[in-house]
Amino acid sequence: MTTTEKDTLRSRLLDERETLIRTLRDHREERLPANDPARDAADRGDLELERSLDHRLTLDDAHLIEKIDHALQRLEEGTYEVCEVCGASIARDRLLAKPSVSTCRLCQQSKEDQSHAPLSH
Ligand SMILES: [Zn+2]
Repeated sequence: MTTTEKDTLRSRLLDERETLIRTLRDHREERLPANDPARDAADRGDLELERSLDHRLTLDDAHLIEKIDHALQRLEEGTYEVCEVCGASIARDRLLAKPSVSTCRLCQQSKEDQSHAPLSH
């Protein structure tokens, strides 16, 4: 993967993160009264608070932001193209299609298989 491609992915991740944070903020403003102290904490981008908000959409978004942060960290560390489960390299087209992934196709597949049909030992 070239530096240009990595830059492109980085800006895509940052854009996606920005959009998610905006969604969370809009959502929060519907929920919290303007003088609620929790709102100030929320404006600082407190993910712990996000987790405590009992709303499926919010939880999913907060989880995605974590995945994006993780991917950005992996980009900085130079481990972005390495599967964090098995250490194999992640296919370039997979990363370009979904920049927040951190596992190769096989590991993703086996993770999904396990969650749908637990292995019996
Ligand atoms: Zn893997």
